[in-house]
Amino acid sequence: RKKIFKSIMENYKLYINGNFKDSSSKNTFTSIDPSTEEPWASFAEANADDVNAAVESAYNAFRGDWSKLFPTQRGQYLRAIGDQLKENAELLGTIETRDTGKMFKETKFQANYIAEFYYYYAGLVDKIEGTTLPIDKPDMQVFTTREPIGVVAAIIPWNSQMFLAAVKLAPALAMGNTVVIKASEVAPAPLFELAKLIDKVGLPKGVINIISGFGEDCGKVLTSHPKVDRIAFTGGVHTAKHIVRNSAENLSQVTLELGGKSPVAVFKDANIDNALNGVTASIFGASGQSCIAGSRLYLEDEIYNEFIDKISSKAKQIKIGPPMEKETQMGPLCTLKQLTNIEEKVKQTVQEGGELITGGERPKEINQGWYYKPTIIACDHHNLPTAEHELFGPVLSVMKFSGEEEVIKLMNDNSYGLAAGVFSENNGTALRVSKAVRAGILFVNTYRLISPVAPFGGFKNSGFGRESGMEVIKDYSRIKTTWINTSKQVMGDPFIIR
Ligand code: NAD
Repeated sequence: RKKIFKSIMENYKLYINGNFKDSSSKNTFTSIDPSTEEPWASFAEANADDVNAAVESAYNAFRGDWSKLFPTQRGQYLRAIGDQLKENAELLGTIETRDTGKMFKETKFQANYIAEFYYYYAGLVDKIEGTTLPIDKPDMQVFTTREPIGVVAAIIPWNSQMFLAAVKLAPALAMGNTVVIKASEVAPAPLFELAKLIDKVGLPKGVINIISGFGEDCGKVLTSHPKVDRIAFTGGVHTAKHIVRNSAENLSQVTLELGGKSPVAVFKDANIDNALNGVTASIFGASGQSCIAGSRLYLEDEIYNEFIDKISSKAKQIKIGPPMEKETQMGPLCTLKQLTNIEEKVKQTVQEGGELITGGERPKEINQGWYYKPTIIACDHHNLPTAEHELFGPVLSVMKFSGEEEVIKLMNDNSYGLAAGVFSENNGTALRVSKAVRAGILFVNTYRLISPVAPFGGFKNSGFGRESGMEVIKDYSRIKTTWINTSKQVMGDPFIIR
């Protein structure tokens, strides 16, 4: 059986300087289809030599023509990448589903929609202007221009790779930077399919390089590389601390998009059907494998029992199954490690007094794949293991609250601050809570939306910096200030600052 698999395995290579190549060590690693538990693809494993080659290639491309193109010309390349995504959404979706277990409905939709991020920055790039300064000195014409930073190292995890790559690539390229993207060692196939599409677009060689490998041998070398000037990282908090330390080596500007334990509050005056769908989307969408997953639910006293009954009967009806099938609503988890971690945390929570309302086990009817049932646990407080830790799975911890002030306190008693949700038909309540909660993204009477127009990012342990939206393009540039002396006179006393 292994032999048959080997012969039909996909083999992905590193994309460096416009060429697809093996790693210099010839080492490879495999990826496992989470719905079958079978290895299905192998990947070249980049080591320090490969990282150096990728960075050199990006550095040469940066010093070559790329940053000197007109912004409008770079925008045309971005549009061409967007077109490739749209034309190949079906293929990209299939590969991402195979590699990560995420539902095809969503991966195909995403590949198609993510084109809009490239179009957005393509349209924005030639609207970025400098300024002429109202300077407070005589005979001086002073103006600012925005310049690209240099080589960008983009590090991304395995979930939502098209999205997480686009929000880094599009603004970085638009401003004239070049990029080395390191795919996760888990499920990196979607990025290498993207590499094939990017190759078709015919960008100058080295503008985009895509590699995969492990944290120490690849990620660390990349993020501490002396020729890297900017790091855009998405991943876990623990890794983020390494990234910040690595960046001490090259003093790169860093942005960090990290995890979350996002709180959702449902008030007694909420539209209950809407809140039920919102909560379902927040924690069971993508099997809870989303950084903005609403994994802490606070219910107002008066509706607590009713809501628990309704959300648990909704959870029980969720169709778990193969992610390629249309009727499936929840596919498997991406890795066995997540599954066993979730099992352990659920067990501990129950031991410590949590009441398992539904789920809490693998579905018995499926004998293959890393599936886990939608799980709801009632908790007296949010310091129980499932309520405390980011699990990246379909596990909802539910707590009670009474009144606005209490829920604001509870929602802010959180080491993370990525997203939060509020369900209430009272606009005053919704706005006051939204304003008071320390999170980067607030959803009111809805959940789980992304757009190129809307900035995305967190507070506290969820990181810093933003992705998407207009301001972000400036984070991929630096201001240059130019002073021009228009006087006919010789400069005055050179020994004092003027
Ligand atoms: P992870 O932190 O383990 O890995 C992320 C990436 O960092 C991988 O490519 C990995 O190889 C690399 N890496 C590991 N060690 C490194 C090192 N020492 N130096 C440089 N790179 C290194 O994250 P994960 O578990 O794969 O992904 C899930 C995490 O990502 C969750 O916490 C999730 O919330 C977060 N996430 C955040 C967002 C967001 O936009 N805020 C989006 C998606 C996922």
